[in-house]
Amino acid sequence: MTKTRKRILKILLFILILFSCLLILFNLSKSRTFQLFGEVVSSVPNNDKKIALTFDDGPTENTSIILDKLSELNIKATFFLCGTGIEQRPDDAKLIVASGNAVGNHSYSHTRMIAKSYGFIKQEVDKTNSLISKSGYTDTIFFRPPYGKKLFFLPYYLSKKDIVTVMWSMEPETVLGFDATAEEIARYVIDNVKNGSIILLHPMYNPDNVLPALDIIVPELKKQGYTFCTIPQLYKEYK
Ligand SMILES: [Zn+2]
Repeated sequence: MTKTRKRILKILLFILILFSCLLILFNLSKSRTFQLFGEVVSSVPNNDKKIALTFDDGPTENTSIILDKLSELNIKATFFLCGTGIEQRPDDAKLIVASGNAVGNHSYSHTRMIAKSYGFIKQEVDKTNSLISKSGYTDTIFFRPPYGKKLFFLPYYLSKKDIVTVMWSMEPETVLGFDATAEEIARYVIDNVKNGSIILLHPMYNPDNVLPALDIIVPELKKQGYTFCTIPQLYKEYK
């Protein structure tokens, strides 16, 4: 084998290894069931047909209609709020807390928590936890990474602070598209729900589809014996 050929082979091998490493890191960063440090939860299996609705982002101007819908359906959900949203709409954050629904941390600025400094991640987590506490929330605060992305520093810092990462097991809007109708979202949830499912929805941005979907999902799943719990309730009872 000539020297040039050997060199080309070495370069190709290097590219292959590099590409494999990047692929592994990419899959790791979006895994719903594994992270390098601390605990991650994507469902809370149980035998009591208990499930959780989780709403990401906000608060937005839709907070009140979401809370009204939950109260009308007589269920509680978990709101993963962003620090910037709480700062912009502190009264809405207080309303969520006062309504007895649970609140989780969805970062301060809703930035991908990858390739960011340790200091940046620490600030995103701490600032938002403090804003959530200032809204009157006293229960355990869980963390949901923006875009579900996490790799090294975020899980490491969360584990240091004993904060559990909460992902999800169902995301109808991602599977069906954000323009899916209420009926399509409802059908997807009803057909795929399992004991301990954690369902992710975005009524803060998508209330016209999500809230009418809840009108179908909640009575149907209640009829099937399911109970809607918050993440702190599910976690404390079954983890
Ligand atoms: Zn989000």
